[in-house]
Amino acid sequence: MTQGRSTPEKVVVIGSGFGGLAAAARLAARGYQVEVFEKRAQPGGRASVFKRDGFVFDAGPTVITAPFLFDDIFALAGRRREDYITFLPVQPFYRIFDHAGRFFEYNTDLPHVLNQIGRWCKADQDGYRRFLAGAETLMQKGFLELGDTPFLHTADMLGVTPDLVRLQAYRSVYGYVSRFIRHPFLRRCFSFHPLLIGGNPLEASAIYAMIHAIERRWGIWYVRGGTGALVQALVRLIEELGGRLHYNAEVTRIPVEKGRATGVCLRDGSVHPADHVVSNADVPFTYLHLIDQRQRGLRNSDRRYRHVARYSMSLVVIYFGTDRQYRDGRLVHHNIILSRRYKGLLREIFHGRSLPHDFSLYLHMPATTDPSMAPEGCESFYVLAPVPHLGADIDWAQAAKPYRDAILSFLETHYLPNLRRHIVAEHMIDPRYFRDELNTHLGSGFSLEPVLTQSAWFRPHNRSEDIENLYFAGAGTHPGAGLPGVVLSGKIAADLIGGTAR
Ligand SMILES: Cc1cc2nc3c(=O)[nH]c(=O)nc-3n(C[C@H](O)[C@H](O)[C@H](O)COP(=O)(O)OP(=O)(O)OC[C@H]3O[C@@H](n4cnc5c(N)ncnc54)[C@H](O)[C@@H]3O)c2cc1C
Repeated sequence: MTQGRSTPEKVVVIGSGFGGLAAAARLAARGYQVEVFEKRAQPGGRASVFKRDGFVFDAGPTVITAPFLFDDIFALAGRRREDYITFLPVQPFYRIFDHAGRFFEYNTDLPHVLNQIGRWCKADQDGYRRFLAGAETLMQKGFLELGDTPFLHTADMLGVTPDLVRLQAYRSVYGYVSRFIRHPFLRRCFSFHPLLIGGNPLEASAIYAMIHAIERRWGIWYVRGGTGALVQALVRLIEELGGRLHYNAEVTRIPVEKGRATGVCLRDGSVHPADHVVSNADVPFTYLHLIDQRQRGLRNSDRRYRHVARYSMSLVVIYFGTDRQYRDGRLVHHNIILSRRYKGLLREIFHGRSLPHDFSLYLHMPATTDPSMAPEGCESFYVLAPVPHLGADIDWAQAAKPYRDAILSFLETHYLPNLRRHIVAEHMIDPRYFRDELNTHLGSGFSLEPVLTQSAWFRPHNRSEDIENLYFAGAGTHPGAGLPGVVLSGKIAADLIGGTAR
């Protein structure tokens, strides 16, 4: 790393999403001189925070799985995560409602989960045990063994192919779950997880069935003060270690000489030299907009990212605060409200050209775990609906308002009485936010879609094939979207720079 030099090597990180922050913290802990350039006025990327009239809204991630991945970052720097941030357990993990308002919920308590399954279909209790055993095997391989392995060479992929075949990675998550579970609603409850990382349960590799095992093994957590507080904790750590973060600092170009990045150029015209560059900006955006096409080979060509790659769906999220609470016990911290249609709706979200007429929703109620997220006596919410990305023919300038009205009216009728009368703070984002604010190709919510042909070696690599000192951390590179994935990608990038990658 930096031995043998009088000054430490300098690393520039583009973007302060969790992948960028994880890479920056690890590199700063190893003695590199780290500078993070963030386009926006605040850190966190998808995990930024909207504050309105005393309500605190986490814009994106709300579910913390595998919290030890954060502990590891602090430990590498000789610190204790507990001294920076508190993780609060969330129980149940999710309450999942069918179209008629009946629910299923689960947590780490096996008898409780079996009892819940029994309310829907006694015969599926055995199937669930077998499903869980399979998901644990998938987790062992896909998460614990391969999660922080960089897949840079064809041989890396060939080495794991027999395992992938044995583990039936060629199946979809829905297909995998359906081998064990018979009841249609329970199939949905155990197969929705790819949506959390931008995947279609009908097409994402069965490997992602491991998410259920990860949840059960390490639990689901919420950060006291919201996910934004975790972002702030990482920022504080990086700064304590001597790293610097610059906001309103958009990188417009990565200059390359003789196959090496020389640093970054910002929109204000300034040039910042670096020994290594880590891009946490969306991978397709980085190649398409920051690097001259003549510096890129076929694998990173415009053609690949514009015409060949498949992108995850996008999202509409409405953040709202009410001047009353909704605590009759029916809704919990994490609620999923499924539409009557499952397969048809998923097909329309991932392959359709127009906005589906119905929706499945995730409804977040953080103040049930952490009262500081809303003023006293009030409730803080966000409701999220997966929608097609900007490759579809939807004019969001026209569609956003009626879509918002339909969702709030649905919630008012079925879950939150008199809702619209009680809303006192509101904010909404749609696919344009992901494209324009976060620089994500086609406004996708999670970058490249997690299908087998875009996973591991097939996913954009953590080190560029074209530019030897350019690395990637974030949702678009290996292992993929979701906080565990992007935090691991930050580890891979830092390990590749430090020469300690697996
Ligand atoms: C609504 C929503 C809910 C989610 N819920 C969960 C959840 O509960 N649990 C979970 O684990 N995951 C969840 N996810 C997924 C998870 O949030 C993301 O996969 C993860 O946060 C992405 O991190 P990232 O490192 O890719 O960076 P991003 O968050 O994508 O950040 C990239 C950063 O780069 C900056 N940038 C871009 N271009 C430039 C440039 N040219 N110059 C400078 N800066 C630039 C952007 O401004 C941004 O700050 C959710 C995602 C969304 C959108």
